[in-house]
Amino acid sequence: MQVITRGLDLRLTHLTRFADIPQVIDLNNISRIALDVPLRRLFDYLIPVGAAAPPPGSRVRVPFGRRSLVGVVVENAFESSVPEAKLKPISGLVDAVPVLDAALLALVRWASDYYHHPIGEVIASALPKALRAGASPVALETVWRPTQSGRAALAQGRLARAPAQRQLLEWVIQHDPLRQDALALHLPRWRPAATALLKQDWIRCAATAAHVHTDLGASSAPAAPGIAPPLTPEQAQAVACIGAALGGFSTFVLHGLTGSGKTEVYLQVIQTVLAAGRRALVLVPEIGLTPQLVRRFEERFKTPLAVLHSALTDGERLGAWRNAASGAARIVVGTRSAVFAPVPELGIIIVDEEHDASLKQHEGGFHYSARDLALVRAQRAQVPVVLGSATPSLETLQNVVTGRYQRLALPRRADQAQPPRLAVVDLRGHAVAAGLATPVVQAIERHLAADGQVLVYLNRRGYAPTLLCTACGWVAPCADCDARLTVHQRSGRLRCHHCGADSPLPKQCPQCGFEVRPVGQGTERVEERLRELFAQAPLVRVDRDVVRGQGDMDAAMHSVNSGAARILVGTQMITKGHDFQNMTLVVVLNADQGLFSTDFRAAERLAQTIVQVAGRAGRGSRAGEVLIQTAYPEHPLLQMLMSEGYDGFARAALAERAAAAWPPFSRLAVVRASAPSARDALDFLTAARRLAGAPRGVKLLGPVPAAMARRAGRYHSQLLLESPDRNALHRLLGAWIEQLGALPGAHRVRWALDVDPIDLF
Ligand code: ADP
Ligand code: ZN
Repeated sequence: MQVITRGLDLRLTHLTRFADIPQVIDLNNISRIALDVPLRRLFDYLIPVGAAAPPPGSRVRVPFGRRSLVGVVVENAFESSVPEAKLKPISGLVDAVPVLDAALLALVRWASDYYHHPIGEVIASALPKALRAGASPVALETVWRPTQSGRAALAQGRLARAPAQRQLLEWVIQHDPLRQDALALHLPRWRPAATALLKQDWIRCAATAAHVHTDLGASSAPAAPGIAPPLTPEQAQAVACIGAALGGFSTFVLHGLTGSGKTEVYLQVIQTVLAAGRRALVLVPEIGLTPQLVRRFEERFKTPLAVLHSALTDGERLGAWRNAASGAARIVVGTRSAVFAPVPELGIIIVDEEHDASLKQHEGGFHYSARDLALVRAQRAQVPVVLGSATPSLETLQNVVTGRYQRLALPRRADQAQPPRLAVVDLRGHAVAAGLATPVVQAIERHLAADGQVLVYLNRRGYAPTLLCTACGWVAPCADCDARLTVHQRSGRLRCHHCGADSPLPKQCPQCGFEVRPVGQGTERVEERLRELFAQAPLVRVDRDVVRGQGDMDAAMHSVNSGAARILVGTQMITKGHDFQNMTLVVVLNADQGLFSTDFRAAERLAQTIVQVAGRAGRGSRAGEVLIQTAYPEHPLLQMLMSEGYDGFARAALAERAAAAWPPFSRLAVVRASAPSARDALDFLTAARRLAGAPRGVKLLGPVPAAMARRAGRYHSQLLLESPDRNALHRLLGAWIEQLGALPGAHRVRWALDVDPIDLF
């Protein structure tokens, strides 16, 4: 081991090259760099001699194999376990100012540790694509400047015979530095002259940061905020409690139905935050709901917002990120990855619809909960976090029980005089046609006759989930999935809802040639049936087959709110966020999928959906009615929901979870693997299990094939890890995950770790 002083190191390298042992090099001669490659480590590079160490969080360009990559410096060090001779120097510094400030870099490192995921990929999810490719973190404009020799040339009259060039050079000297857009405006045909002057080196162009407003302080708070309504006593109390907690970390659960005034509470709390010269980060689950929310924020604050969601183009995303990073935007609103958005002088984090599954990233390799990361971020920044929901998740409610979170309840809105009446309709005791039991049809008739609107919820799109041969019993299967194909009658197609397979709808059974028939129902068939039954009542259907974009959704919601449509049929898409004034009847067509699922969270999801759709019923002066069709009306959780509402359900469900040692009473992680052969996926997980041995305090369950084992031609399996103790689980994961990639069958499978999974399918 030797210490080498900086400046000498490269020369001395030759002397020490033979020593293949870890070496100590001069203080901070090495940058440890995160690269967006699926390797679970940082990469060491030499800081070039004479260069200052790049600050952590800044981007650098480095050689990687034959490529040149942009990476982010995570830390600087003075020793490396890589032999010095093998270390390559950083080829260039991309940023003068880090793209990830200290707080965000710490959050990214925390996430990489907690989710046991390569930090390079975590940073890749945290930064817009354009930044990963090296784009400037600040908006740039091109400016033109004269050189010394250019000034001299003009003074010497050397451009007397080139009037266009002279005019341009004079203009550049007069307005130094001259913005290119201003130049183009003044001299539309400037390019040839500029090219000539550039060749002489009489002018130069440069990129500089565009002017942005970064002023902070109470004086820059919006001057004339929109009118805020006087708060109800409960809202006022919530605003006061959160307001009193500003400046430190605490967690609030704002519990109130849609329409109970949660957003108004957010707005008034944010008002206080902005007035104190700070900024707000608001996380929302769906892009579909952001336009309404963003409009309300803009109307109220008349201040620029940065909006980050998955439907943005790369350029839009970069622009929004820059507005957030520069501080120009005082409020940053976004879907889950916005938890990594830069927000200088952060004052509060709000997570709307905190129970929503889309706040959890469950695609790709890096699985994270934006809600949980929001808590970590808030704690580090010492700011409060507000979790809003009509139906808080069970883990959040358990944190209320233990006193870690403070619950602020908003009662239903004042104009919803009575809570809706919930009742079950026993599917076994009534005639059922096209999925509608007779009492439900009668109720719809009654509400339409009384001028009410009706919402029918069914979480299954298409015409029917099954195509059956009435003679031989053949059922149309997906060739690549363990699933049946869904009948789409109007478009005449058979589709797989899991892999997207799409084929024409056969008229006869391919096996025996007899007649085939759709069995069961999706929204398309329910629509058809309701149109037959209630021909005079205009109907709109909302599901992914008919509502493709925001425009379709807005049109559908408008026809409901204007009263033009009397019946609304739809999937999950209609359960969220929308506020209907005259909806007096809500029907849940099939509750049973949620009651008898293999997934431990299915009942919670079902209850949340029922409460969310039920919240649409009974506005104005009329009492609402909610009917839930089920073949199992005596199911205890359903009973509890009926008699005591969501709180009662949550108590019962938490007791069940405690008894079964499911989360939040235990900690879970799941390793999922898939391969074209069922054997390979199972063998890999079996080897992984063997590698783990018998760790103390952690139970390993499986591997088992996933509930739907074959999907899109690949076989899926999973290995579950469970522990009452988070630390024990993470101690095991730390070393173990590192080694999985080196298992013999690893190259034959795709695998990923999911810490705190939200489902176990
Ligand atoms: P949530 O976010 O819980 O769905 P909102 O804040 O959107 O509830 O409130 C629902 C409706 O009630 C909105 O139209 C809102 O403008 C209105 N509202 C909320 N609070 C008040 C209040 N204190 N006084 C009058 N109207 C209110
Ligand atoms: Zn399929």
